[in-house]
Amino acid sequence: MNEFQLITHFFNQHQKQRPDVLLGIGDDCAILAVPPNQQLLVSIDTLVSGVHFPKSTAPFDIGHKALAVNLSDLAAMGATPAWFTLAITLPAVDKEWLGAFSKGLFTLAHSFNVQLIGGDTTRGPLAISIQVHGFAPLGKSIKRQGARPGDLIYVTNTLGDAGLALQHIMNGIELPKALFAKVAPRLNRPMPRVKEGLLLRDYASAMIDISDGLVADLGHILEQSQVGAVLDLAKIPISYALGQALSPDKALRLALSAGDDYELCFTIPAAQQETLERLLRQEKCEVHCIGRITAGKELLFQQGANYLDLAALQGYSHF
Ligand code: ADP
Ligand code: MG
Repeated sequence: MNEFQLITHFFNQHQKQRPDVLLGIGDDCAILAVPPNQQLLVSIDTLVSGVHFPKSTAPFDIGHKALAVNLSDLAAMGATPAWFTLAITLPAVDKEWLGAFSKGLFTLAHSFNVQLIGGDTTRGPLAISIQVHGFAPLGKSIKRQGARPGDLIYVTNTLGDAGLALQHIMNGIELPKALFAKVAPRLNRPMPRVKEGLLLRDYASAMIDISDGLVADLGHILEQSQVGAVLDLAKIPISYALGQALSPDKALRLALSAGDDYELCFTIPAAQQETLERLLRQEKCEVHCIGRITAGKELLFQQGANYLDLAALQGYSHF
């Protein structure tokens, strides 16, 4: 099987054709039509085997995750996903591996109506780069910059499950099989919060997706918005599985600092709280208000009546 047969067989089959793809895979470039009055948003992420996913990861999951982390970036800006390109470096042509990888990739692509429009295929150590393209109405995308003192801070769903699964796989921390089965999909098949991102477009003052951990990623919002924040530790959402697996301190540590969750962290003006929460409930989107933006530049953690900075929190909680 040569390179072109490989591309045709694994990457140019069974795709639903979007009307805005005027020319897809097969020429030197793809030709695409951006809808009028929309802006094009573009992002790229690379996954390297052994660095961004454990070497033992199933190929279906690698395909899913490579696209999911990119769709998550579009979600974090409130964009509608449209197209993606794929640059893949493979150590060998392994048909079984490629079949499972492309199944994981296209299953997710279909569910978000995104089309693969081109790419590059090379030989070398396993690495996957995906670039995504999406749309948002002129001037409507949500940036990291824009949080104001008094705004409320939210996250979607729960945090720390992906970190727990990774700790189990990489560092062998003990985890009953049933609990691992609950958290492993959150590491291997994260669901990009595209629907939430779109709903938030008219409400959020700032937004980011949590790829490196809540403290690190909220830190980007604070820095770019030139503000501080107070997080209420009692409100950090921890799943039942994570709560069962670890002591409260350790669970909280993962929820605050572990990466790979791909949930959204966003801020809204307090006056919007009721309207937005009602809308999100209607749409069956789970969100948690975890704190508020302050005028200072610091990130503080409220524990009962105490306010701790990160260093104090780490000392206090034996992190
Ligand atoms: P060129 O040499 O002009 O860059 P290639 O031979 O690399 O073209 O690729 C031929 C066609 O196949 C191009 O349209 C390219 O976008 C597409 N392609 C190559 N690799 C992939 C891939 N992994 N997934 C999707 N499309 C691909
Ligand atoms: Mg060319």
